[in-house]
Amino acid sequence: MNDPSEHGGAAGGTERGLPGAGLVKGLAVTLKTMTSRSTTQQYPDVAPELPPRSRGVIALSEENCTVCMLCARECPDWCIYIDSHKEEVAVPGAARPRQRNVLDKFDIDFSLCMYCGICIEVCPFDALYWSPEFEYAEYDIKDLLHDKDHLGQWMATVPPPPAHDPNGEPAKEETAAARKAAAARPVPPAVRPEPGADPGPAS
Ligand code: SF4
Ligand code: SF4
Repeated sequence: MNDPSEHGGAAGGTERGLPGAGLVKGLAVTLKTMTSRSTTQQYPDVAPELPPRSRGVIALSEENCTVCMLCARECPDWCIYIDSHKEEVAVPGAARPRQRNVLDKFDIDFSLCMYCGICIEVCPFDALYWSPEFEYAEYDIKDLLHDKDHLGQWMATVPPPPAHDPNGEPAKEETAAARKAAAARPVPPAVRPEPGADPGPAS
């Protein structure tokens, strides 16, 4: 229901603005907009300044991928297609050869992808990364299916990780390496007192 007082109706009350106040207010908004800086970006003539960690395209580091299938299983759009085969690797000294997965196919269909980043979050082996590149529009929707070679080419555009916070905790790897180095360091031989020498004050 409309409140008659909002329209200055007789039942509502006596509050009526000055004549022309609305016009002045509108002109003030127009003037403010005219004098403020435009936020329109003239793309593609001027490249937009995007944050370095924008979600543009997904890059694949093939050598890190162990074909664990986690990304494909967690993708809500089911737009990651992976295929692999097993290969035997002879290990010197081992009784039996080891088996390893070899990646045959790793495709992402960017016409279905919703850029949620779940695949990158869940990958336990740092095989997937965001690249800020976004200029890969195609005339044919089928060309938005990027295979492993195409996804691998995006790795060159992945920005380096941010610098380590000097006040933050050291990485687990650094702590483990420091502990290992300390354990491997030779222990100096204990200094033995000369026979008959004063053993010093008893503690
Ligand atoms: S960003 Fe999301 S939708 Fe796109 S491939 Fe990864 S998990 Fe699937
Ligand atoms: S989660 Fe990572 S390691 Fe596993 S299949 Fe996907 S990209 Fe490869």
